[in-house]
Amino acid sequence: MNKKQQKHFEQKLKAWKEELVHEAGRTVDGMHEEKTLFADPTDRASMETDRSFLLRIRDRERRLISKIDMALERIEDKSFGLCDHCGENIELKRLEARPVATLCIHCKTIQEEEEKSTRK
Ligand SMILES: [Zn+2]
Repeated sequence: MNKKQQKHFEQKLKAWKEELVHEAGRTVDGMHEEKTLFADPTDRASMETDRSFLLRIRDRERRLISKIDMALERIEDKSFGLCDHCGENIELKRLEARPVATLCIHCKTIQEEEEKSTRK
């Protein structure tokens, strides 16, 4: 991967992270609003459900943000774009679709096969 490509992915990752951080902030605002709007006990019950739903989304966002941070660190130490497993270059097309990928498509496929067979 050349410098230009690294820069491209760095910007892509940073923009993605900003978007997620922004979304997460909005989720928190929504939670505050709901608290003051619904005082009725039945509404409160559904509010709890909504809240656990929101928290699940936020949890996923948080995990994704930490993956993005890891990818940015990998750009820093020049290991970005290399497969964690075999050390080969991860296909650019794959990184373009999923810049937080840490495995090449070959290793990813093997991993998924293994997961499938252990789940049975
Ligand atoms: Zn690999």
